[in-house]
Amino acid sequence: MAADQSGVFSGEGFAPDDHTQDAPSDPANNRPNGVSRREFVGAAAVAGATLISAAGAFGQSRSDLEAGRSDDYASDPGPENDALLALNPDPNRPPFTDRGTLPPFWYGFALTPKRLQAGGWTHQVTERELPLSKDLAGVNMRLTAGSFRELHWHLADEWAIMLAGKARVSVMQPNGKMFIDDVEKGDLWYFPAGYPHSIQGLEGAGCEFLLVFDQGDFSEDDTFLLSEMLAHIPPEVIQKNMGWSRQEWDQLPAETLYIFPAELPGPIENDKRFLGSRLETENQYTFHGAMTMKPLAETAGGSARVIDSRNFPASRNIATGIVTLRPGALRELHWHPNGSEWQYWIQGKGRMTVTMTGARARTVDFNAGDVGLVPNMAGHYIENTGSEDVIFLEMFKTSRYQSISVNEWIARMPDKMAQVHLKLPLSPIRRVPASQYVVLPK
Ligand code: MN
Ligand code: MN
Repeated sequence: MAADQSGVFSGEGFAPDDHTQDAPSDPANNRPNGVSRREFVGAAAVAGATLISAAGAFGQSRSDLEAGRSDDYASDPGPENDALLALNPDPNRPPFTDRGTLPPFWYGFALTPKRLQAGGWTHQVTERELPLSKDLAGVNMRLTAGSFRELHWHLADEWAIMLAGKARVSVMQPNGKMFIDDVEKGDLWYFPAGYPHSIQGLEGAGCEFLLVFDQGDFSEDDTFLLSEMLAHIPPEVIQKNMGWSRQEWDQLPAETLYIFPAELPGPIENDKRFLGSRLETENQYTFHGAMTMKPLAETAGGSARVIDSRNFPASRNIATGIVTLRPGALRELHWHPNGSEWQYWIQGKGRMTVTMTGARARTVDFNAGDVGLVPNMAGHYIENTGSEDVIFLEMFKTSRYQSISVNEWIARMPDKMAQVHLKLPLSPIRRVPASQYVVLPK
């Protein structure tokens, strides 16, 4: 099914920035080689003084870059981190179309310290690790069978996807009704800010999941914990509030629990029966089968599934695309008109080029467990460069997933408009796929 039939991938009233027209041309489409120096300086002058200095400092011509791919110029006789370079061939020998400096848009959970406790671990990639990531922050967590992430709440909305195993989650609404459900690999949950909730690993190997918060500077170390609150209320107040004696107050945890082992719970039906009329059944805070649901777009190259407030109403402020790319396939050239893109790579190996204003472009490689960040409105593609399927998440701090396809835009340009901008005869212009396929080849 072509994605445009559903209308979901259609943009809504976005006016493209003229700066995108200043980007160097791609010689793969048979154009005369490059933008002249004079033309480039003119474009940079239009783009503004800060970009002129950035561009001027990067005195690297297209022919330098082309030669560097084949000649000895890129040889590096000094010390190298070979393992890291092997994971990042594109930054080491950039495609000749790359140009200028971009802030880092790659980070790996493998680089972050784990908070390890009895019962599991957690680590995070936030704005502190990836400064461009202002909208969203990610936490990767593991709980062994029976272990809890302590009852807590926080300032940010929490979206999650189960990566392995099974868990039981609960969340209480302000009206006193509690939602409780069991989730497994490929299931999601969404807990609004301030709603108290729990996560417990279930039988077998427990679980691992990715949490995504709608605040870039979120920290997993800054959550409100039940243990911490009770430990810092005077016992005589606890007695008035809960009816617990001083001796009972003394038995409360004196230290933060955060992650801790516990016995496996009974069947979920028991918990639901206990809740009775206080069981929340109207609002669904979990979403089952996100990785196996019917794709919104499916092509020879792969598929894309979208989960946002339209099919998962609880997910009011986070929209998600789950993209699968077969080996060699391409998440087509596009951008998003409504937010920066926070990526998590679940499987495979690929590369992404991000194009910015001021004729800047950088290409970076990704592997499973990595995080990518595309600045708001920046053009990009993702190419599977490995031998297995790539699966990655495109995440946005918004209620609705949207993307603009460059192919679709070209296909909508009247003949003369297209020809004067692309400097191409009409026949190659009309060979471009005429709608947003999301994943290519179609
Ligand atoms: Mn939480
Ligand atoms: Mn994207």
